[in-house]
Amino acid sequence: MTNKIKPQPGILDIALYQGGASAIAGKTQVLKLSSNENPHGASDAAKAAFQRAVHELHRYPSTDHAALRKAIAGVYKLDQDHIICGVGSDEIIHFLCQAYAGKGDEVIHTEHGFLMYRISAMAAGATPVEVAERDRTVDVDAILAACSKKTRLVFIANPANPTGTMISQAEMARLADGLPPQAILVLDGAYAEFAEGYDGGAALVESRDNVVMTRTFSKLYGLGGLRVGWGYAPREIIDVLNRIRGPFNLSGVALATAEAAVRDLDFSAKCRADNARWRGWLVAALRDVGLGCDESHANFVLARFASPAEAEACDLRLQSEGIIVRRVASYKLPDCLRITVGDEAACRRVAHIIGQFKGEGA
Ligand SMILES: *Cc1c(COP(=O)(O)O)cnc(C)c1O
Repeated sequence: MTNKIKPQPGILDIALYQGGASAIAGKTQVLKLSSNENPHGASDAAKAAFQRAVHELHRYPSTDHAALRKAIAGVYKLDQDHIICGVGSDEIIHFLCQAYAGKGDEVIHTEHGFLMYRISAMAAGATPVEVAERDRTVDVDAILAACSKKTRLVFIANPANPTGTMISQAEMARLADGLPPQAILVLDGAYAEFAEGYDGGAALVESRDNVVMTRTFSKLYGLGGLRVGWGYAPREIIDVLNRIRGPFNLSGVALATAEAAVRDLDFSAKCRADNARWRGWLVAALRDVGLGCDESHANFVLARFASPAEAEACDLRLQSEGIIVRRVASYKLPDCLRITVGDEAACRRVAHIIGQFKGEGA
Protein backbone atom coordinates (compact mmCIF):
# COMPACT_ATOMS: atom_id res chain seq x y z
CA MET A 1 0.00 0.00 0.00
CA THR A 2 1.36 3.44 -0.86
CA ASN A 3 0.13 6.08 1.51
CA LYS A 4 0.55 9.59 0.16
CA ILE A 5 -0.74 11.17 3.35
CA LYS A 6 2.31 12.13 5.38
CA PRO A 7 2.89 14.56 8.27
CA GLN A 8 5.43 17.37 8.06
CA PRO A 9 9.11 16.29 8.06
CA GLY A 10 10.36 15.51 11.56
CA ILE A 11 6.95 14.87 13.14
CA LEU A 12 7.37 11.09 13.07
CA ASP A 13 10.78 11.46 14.79
CA ILE A 14 9.08 12.84 17.92
CA ALA A 15 9.05 10.28 20.73
CA LEU A 16 5.66 10.10 22.44
CA TYR A 17 5.60 11.80 25.85
CA GLN A 18 5.05 9.31 28.66
CA GLY A 19 3.31 10.84 31.66
CA GLY A 20 3.75 9.75 35.26
CA ALA A 21 1.92 6.46 35.85
CA SER A 22 -1.27 6.67 37.90
CA ALA A 23 -2.26 3.02 38.37
CA ILE A 24 -0.75 -0.29 39.44
CA ALA A 25 -2.30 -3.49 38.10
CA GLY A 26 -4.22 -5.28 40.86
CA LYS A 27 -4.16 -2.34 43.31
CA THR A 28 -7.18 -0.19 44.00
CA GLN A 29 -5.58 2.11 46.60
CA VAL A 30 -2.42 3.74 45.32
CA LEU A 31 -0.25 6.54 46.60
CA LYS A 32 0.69 8.56 43.51
CA LEU A 33 3.97 10.41 43.89
CA SER A 34 4.87 10.43 40.20
CA SER A 35 3.49 13.68 38.75
CA ASN A 36 4.39 16.42 41.25
CA GLU A 37 0.76 17.05 42.10
CA ASN A 38 -0.28 19.03 45.17
CA PRO A 39 -1.03 16.52 47.98
CA HIS A 40 -3.66 18.95 49.34
CA GLY A 41 -5.49 19.16 46.00
CA ALA A 42 -6.90 22.53 44.93
CA SER A 43 -8.04 25.21 47.39
CA ASP A 44 -11.68 25.30 48.54
CA ALA A 45 -12.01 28.75 47.00
CA ALA A 46 -10.93 27.36 43.63
CA LYS A 47 -13.39 24.46 43.91
CA ALA A 48 -16.21 26.85 44.79
CA ALA A 49 -15.40 29.01 41.76
CA PHE A 50 -15.39 25.89 39.58
CA GLN A 51 -18.87 25.01 40.85
CA ARG A 52 -20.22 28.51 40.25
CA ALA A 53 -18.85 28.44 36.69
CA VAL A 54 -21.16 25.53 35.90
CA HIS A 55 -23.99 28.02 35.47
CA GLU A 56 -22.13 29.75 32.65
CA LEU A 57 -21.28 26.71 30.54
CA HIS A 58 -23.33 27.96 27.58
CA ARG A 59 -21.29 31.17 27.35
CA TYR A 60 -18.15 31.59 25.28
CA PRO A 61 -15.25 32.56 27.52
CA SER A 62 -13.31 35.81 27.53
CA THR A 63 -10.74 35.96 24.75
CA ASP A 64 -8.32 38.37 26.41
CA HIS A 65 -8.27 36.69 29.84
CA ALA A 66 -8.28 40.15 31.39
CA ALA A 67 -9.64 39.10 34.80
CA LEU A 68 -7.16 36.27 35.26
CA ARG A 69 -4.23 38.38 34.04
CA LYS A 70 -5.23 41.12 36.48
CA ALA A 71 -5.38 38.64 39.37
CA ILE A 72 -1.97 37.16 38.48
CA ALA A 73 -0.46 40.62 38.06
CA GLY A 74 -1.82 41.68 41.47
CA VAL A 75 -0.52 38.67 43.34
CA TYR A 76 2.88 38.48 41.63
CA LYS A 77 3.35 42.30 41.29
CA LEU A 78 3.67 42.19 37.51
CA ASP A 79 2.37 44.19 34.54
CA GLN A 80 -0.83 42.52 33.29
CA ASP A 81 -0.16 43.68 29.72
CA HIS A 82 2.93 41.49 29.64
CA ILE A 83 1.07 38.30 30.59
CA ILE A 84 -0.36 35.64 28.25
CA CYS A 85 -2.42 32.67 29.47
CA GLY A 86 -2.34 29.22 27.92
CA VAL A 87 -3.60 25.67 28.17
CA GLY A 88 -0.93 24.77 30.70
CA SER A 89 2.51 26.28 30.36
CA ASP A 90 2.96 23.54 27.75
CA GLU A 91 0.93 25.69 25.37
CA ILE A 92 3.12 28.75 26.01
CA ILE A 93 6.20 26.61 25.25
CA HIS A 94 4.46 25.49 22.06
CA PHE A 95 3.62 29.07 21.02
CA LEU A 96 7.23 30.13 21.54
CA CYS A 97 8.56 27.34 19.33
CA GLN A 98 5.92 27.88 16.67
CA ALA A 99 6.48 31.63 16.56
CA TYR A 100 10.26 31.79 16.83
CA ALA A 101 11.76 28.55 15.53
CA GLY A 102 11.44 26.73 12.23
CA LYS A 103 13.37 24.66 9.75
CA GLY A 104 17.12 25.18 10.10
CA ASP A 105 16.80 26.87 13.49
CA GLU A 106 18.16 25.43 16.73
CA VAL A 107 16.43 25.16 20.09
CA ILE A 108 18.67 24.48 23.09
CA HIS A 109 17.62 22.37 26.04
CA THR A 110 19.79 20.70 28.65
CA GLU A 111 20.76 17.09 29.29
CA HIS A 112 18.12 16.34 31.92
CA GLY A 113 15.71 19.06 30.75
CA PHE A 114 11.92 18.76 30.45
CA LEU A 115 10.96 16.61 27.44
CA MET A 116 8.34 19.09 26.17
CA TYR A 117 11.05 21.50 24.95
CA ARG A 118 12.32 18.90 22.52
CA ILE A 119 8.82 17.86 21.42
CA SER A 120 7.68 21.45 20.77
CA ALA A 121 10.89 22.32 18.91
CA MET A 122 10.51 19.32 16.62
CA ALA A 123 6.80 20.00 16.11
CA ALA A 124 7.82 23.44 14.80
CA GLY A 125 10.32 21.84 12.39
CA ALA A 126 13.34 23.13 14.33
CA THR A 127 16.36 21.15 15.51
CA PRO A 128 16.66 20.48 19.25
CA VAL A 129 20.21 20.77 20.60
CA GLU A 130 21.03 19.04 23.86
CA VAL A 131 23.65 20.58 26.17
CA ALA A 132 25.39 18.69 28.99
CA GLU A 133 24.72 19.60 32.62
CA ARG A 134 27.27 19.60 35.42
CA ASP A 135 26.41 17.47 38.46
CA ARG A 136 22.73 17.46 37.44
CA THR A 137 22.74 21.28 37.28
CA VAL A 138 22.31 23.62 34.29
CA ASP A 139 25.76 24.68 33.04
CA VAL A 140 25.63 28.25 31.71
CA ASP A 141 29.09 28.11 30.10
CA ALA A 142 28.17 24.93 28.22
CA ILE A 143 24.96 26.53 26.94
CA LEU A 144 26.78 29.68 25.80
CA ALA A 145 29.37 27.52 24.04
CA ALA A 146 26.59 25.65 22.20
CA CYS A 147 24.95 28.82 20.88
CA SER A 148 25.30 29.74 17.22
CA LYS A 149 23.75 31.94 14.56
CA LYS A 150 21.01 29.32 14.32
CA THR A 151 20.00 29.43 18.00
CA ARG A 152 16.53 30.91 18.43
CA LEU A 153 15.39 29.63 21.83
CA VAL A 154 17.12 28.41 24.99
CA PHE A 155 14.90 26.57 27.48
CA ILE A 156 15.85 26.02 31.09
CA ALA A 157 13.62 25.13 34.00
CA ASN A 158 14.62 26.85 37.24
CA PRO A 159 14.21 24.98 39.56
CA ALA A 160 14.73 22.11 37.14
CA ASN A 161 12.66 18.97 36.66
CA PRO A 162 13.53 16.14 37.38
CA THR A 163 16.69 17.18 39.25
CA GLY A 164 15.22 19.82 41.60
CA THR A 165 18.44 21.87 41.33
CA MET A 166 18.58 25.54 40.40
CA ILE A 167 21.00 28.21 39.23
CA SER A 168 21.44 31.65 40.80
CA GLN A 169 19.97 34.96 39.66
CA ALA A 170 23.48 36.04 38.62
CA GLU A 171 23.91 32.92 36.47
CA MET A 172 20.54 33.47 34.79
CA ALA A 173 21.52 37.08 34.03
CA ARG A 174 24.89 35.94 32.64
CA LEU A 175 23.07 33.48 30.38
CA ALA A 176 20.58 36.09 29.12
CA ASP A 177 23.35 38.61 28.45
CA GLY A 178 25.61 36.12 26.69
CA LEU A 179 23.06 34.84 24.16
CA PRO A 180 23.39 35.73 20.49
CA PRO A 181 21.12 38.68 19.52
CA GLN A 182 18.47 36.58 17.74
CA ALA A 183 17.93 34.18 20.67
CA ILE A 184 15.34 34.19 23.48
CA LEU A 185 15.98 32.74 26.95
CA VAL A 186 12.91 30.93 28.30
CA LEU A 187 12.87 30.47 32.08
CA ASP A 188 10.38 27.74 32.90
CA GLY A 189 9.17 28.57 36.39
CA ALA A 190 6.80 25.64 36.91
CA TYR A 191 8.36 25.12 40.35
CA ALA A 192 9.37 28.73 41.08
CA GLU A 193 6.89 29.09 43.96
CA PHE A 194 8.64 26.30 45.86
CA ALA A 195 12.04 28.04 45.77
CA GLU A 196 12.55 30.34 48.74
CA GLY A 197 12.65 34.03 47.80
CA TYR A 198 12.73 33.43 44.04
CA ASP A 199 10.73 35.56 41.57
CA GLY A 200 10.86 32.97 38.79
CA GLY A 201 12.94 35.35 36.68
CA ALA A 202 10.30 38.11 36.56
CA ALA A 203 12.82 40.90 37.24
CA LEU A 204 15.04 39.55 34.47
CA VAL A 205 12.10 39.67 32.03
CA GLU A 206 11.43 43.28 32.99
CA SER A 207 15.03 44.41 32.59
CA ARG A 208 15.81 42.69 29.28
CA ASP A 209 14.19 42.27 25.86
CA ASN A 210 15.25 38.63 25.35
CA VAL A 211 13.84 36.80 28.39
CA VAL A 212 10.48 35.03 28.80
CA MET A 213 9.17 33.38 31.97
CA THR A 214 6.57 30.59 31.95
CA ARG A 215 4.48 29.60 34.97
CA THR A 216 1.75 27.09 35.74
CA PHE A 217 -1.30 26.41 37.89
CA SER A 218 -0.54 22.67 37.76
CA LYS A 219 1.89 22.42 40.67
CA LEU A 220 1.50 24.76 43.68
CA TYR A 221 -2.15 25.51 42.89
CA GLY A 222 -3.11 21.86 42.44
CA LEU A 223 -4.91 22.43 39.13
CA GLY A 224 -3.05 20.05 36.81
CA GLY A 225 -6.34 18.58 35.64
CA LEU A 226 -7.65 21.98 34.55
CA ARG A 227 -4.72 22.96 32.25
CA VAL A 228 -3.84 26.60 32.95
CA GLY A 229 -0.45 28.22 32.60
CA TRP A 230 0.90 31.63 31.73
CA GLY A 231 3.86 33.48 30.31
CA TYR A 232 5.48 36.82 31.19
CA ALA A 233 7.43 38.55 28.44
CA PRO A 234 8.32 41.85 26.77
CA ARG A 235 5.29 43.38 25.05
CA GLU A 236 6.62 42.66 21.52
CA ILE A 237 6.83 38.95 22.30
CA ILE A 238 3.38 38.87 23.94
CA ASP A 239 1.93 40.51 20.81
CA VAL A 240 3.55 37.85 18.62
CA LEU A 241 2.32 34.94 20.76
CA ASN A 242 -1.23 36.33 20.88
CA ARG A 243 -1.39 36.13 17.08
CA ILE A 244 -1.12 32.35 17.12
CA ARG A 245 -3.12 31.77 20.31
CA GLY A 246 -6.63 30.44 19.72
CA PRO A 247 -9.14 33.09 20.82
CA PHE A 248 -10.92 30.65 23.16
CA ASN A 249 -7.93 28.59 24.27
CA LEU A 250 -9.01 28.67 27.93
CA SER A 251 -12.52 27.72 29.03
CA GLY A 252 -14.59 29.97 31.30
CA VAL A 253 -14.40 27.28 33.97
CA ALA A 254 -10.62 27.21 33.79
CA LEU A 255 -10.34 31.01 33.89
CA ALA A 256 -12.66 31.41 36.89
CA THR A 257 -11.10 28.57 38.85
CA ALA A 258 -7.53 29.72 38.25
CA GLU A 259 -8.43 33.26 39.27
CA ALA A 260 -9.85 32.07 42.58
CA ALA A 261 -6.82 29.83 43.11
CA VAL A 262 -4.25 32.57 42.63
CA ARG A 263 -6.19 34.90 44.96
CA ASP A 264 -6.24 32.32 47.79
CA LEU A 265 -3.00 33.44 49.38
CA ASP A 266 -3.53 31.54 52.66
CA PHE A 267 -3.86 28.21 50.89
CA SER A 268 -0.78 28.72 48.71
CA ALA A 269 1.27 29.85 51.72
CA LYS A 270 0.23 26.74 53.64
CA CYS A 271 1.09 24.44 50.69
CA ARG A 272 4.47 26.12 50.24
CA ALA A 273 5.36 25.84 53.93
CA ASP A 274 4.23 22.23 54.13
CA ASN A 275 6.22 21.33 51.04
CA ALA A 276 9.40 22.97 52.35
CA ARG A 277 9.08 21.14 55.67
CA TRP A 278 8.49 17.65 54.27
CA ARG A 279 10.89 18.10 51.38
CA GLY A 280 13.70 18.75 53.86
CA TRP A 281 12.61 15.79 55.95
CA LEU A 282 12.50 13.48 52.92
CA VAL A 283 15.93 14.52 51.62
CA ALA A 284 17.41 13.81 55.07
CA ALA A 285 15.61 10.46 55.31
CA LEU A 286 16.89 9.31 51.91
CA ARG A 287 20.46 10.37 52.73
CA ASP A 288 20.17 8.54 56.04
CA VAL A 289 19.64 5.24 54.25
CA GLY A 290 22.64 5.84 51.99
CA LEU A 291 21.04 7.29 48.86
CA GLY A 292 22.39 10.27 46.95
CA CYS A 293 19.98 13.21 47.04
CA ASP A 294 20.68 16.79 45.95
CA GLU A 295 19.05 19.64 47.80
CA SER A 296 15.71 20.24 46.06
CA HIS A 297 14.08 23.61 45.35
CA ALA A 298 10.88 22.07 43.98
CA ASN A 299 8.04 19.82 45.21
CA PHE A 300 9.87 16.57 44.52
CA VAL A 301 13.22 15.00 45.34
CA LEU A 302 15.51 12.92 43.16
CA ALA A 303 16.83 9.77 44.84
CA ARG A 304 20.05 8.39 43.35
CA PHE A 305 20.71 4.67 43.64
CA ALA A 306 23.92 2.71 43.15
CA SER A 307 22.82 1.48 39.72
CA PRO A 308 19.88 1.46 37.29
CA ALA A 309 19.14 -2.10 38.47
CA GLU A 310 18.84 -0.98 42.09
CA ALA A 311 16.58 1.94 41.11
CA GLU A 312 14.36 -0.43 39.18
CA ALA A 313 14.22 -2.96 42.02
CA CYS A 314 13.26 -0.24 44.49
CA ASP A 315 10.59 1.05 42.09
CA LEU A 316 9.11 -2.48 41.87
CA ARG A 317 9.22 -2.79 45.64
CA LEU A 318 7.38 0.52 46.02
CA GLN A 319 4.78 -0.58 43.47
CA SER A 320 4.20 -3.80 45.40
CA GLU A 321 3.34 -1.55 48.35
CA GLY A 322 0.98 0.54 46.22
CA ILE A 323 3.32 3.52 45.80
CA ILE A 324 3.97 5.06 42.37
CA VAL A 325 7.09 7.18 41.87
CA ARG A 326 8.67 8.33 38.61
CA ARG A 327 11.37 6.42 36.76
CA VAL A 328 13.47 9.02 34.97
CA ALA A 329 15.52 6.96 32.52
CA SER A 330 13.99 9.01 29.67
CA TYR A 331 15.64 12.04 31.32
CA LYS A 332 19.00 10.26 31.19
CA LEU A 333 18.88 9.44 34.88
CA PRO A 334 18.38 5.64 34.82
CA ASP A 335 19.80 5.19 38.32
CA CYS A 336 17.31 7.63 39.86
CA LEU A 337 13.72 7.80 41.05
CA ARG A 338 11.86 11.10 41.27
CA ILE A 339 9.55 11.24 44.27
CA THR A 340 6.90 13.93 44.71
CA VAL A 341 6.80 15.47 48.18
CA GLY A 342 3.44 14.31 49.50
CA ASP A 343 1.83 15.08 52.83
CA GLU A 344 3.40 13.93 56.10
CA ALA A 345 1.92 10.42 55.95
CA ALA A 346 3.02 9.94 52.34
CA CYS A 347 6.57 11.08 53.04
CA ARG A 348 6.88 8.84 56.08
CA ARG A 349 5.48 5.88 54.18
CA VAL A 350 7.69 6.19 51.09
CA ALA A 351 10.80 6.77 53.24
CA HIS A 352 9.94 3.77 55.39
CA ILE A 353 9.61 1.39 52.42
CA ILE A 354 12.80 2.68 50.80
CA GLY A 355 14.59 2.29 54.13
CA GLN A 356 13.40 -1.32 54.39
CA PHE A 357 14.48 -1.95 50.79
CA LYS A 358 17.95 -0.56 51.43
CA GLY A 359 18.23 -2.50 54.69
CA GLU A 360 17.49 -5.81 52.98
CA GLY A 361 20.12 -5.23 50.33
CA ALA A 362 22.87 -4.52 52.89
C1 LIG B 1 4.92 20.27 35.33
C2 LIG B 1 5.81 21.11 34.50
C3 LIG B 1 5.30 22.12 33.72
C4 LIG B 1 3.84 22.45 33.77
O1 LIG B 1 3.20 22.10 32.64
P1 LIG B 1 1.66 22.48 32.50
O2 LIG B 1 1.45 22.34 31.03
O3 LIG B 1 1.53 23.90 32.95
O4 LIG B 1 0.88 21.53 33.32
C5 LIG B 1 6.16 22.90 32.96
N1 LIG B 1 7.50 22.68 33.00
C6 LIG B 1 8.03 21.73 33.76
C7 LIG B 1 9.50 21.57 33.81
C8 LIG B 1 7.21 20.90 34.52
O5 LIG B 1 7.74 19.93 35.26
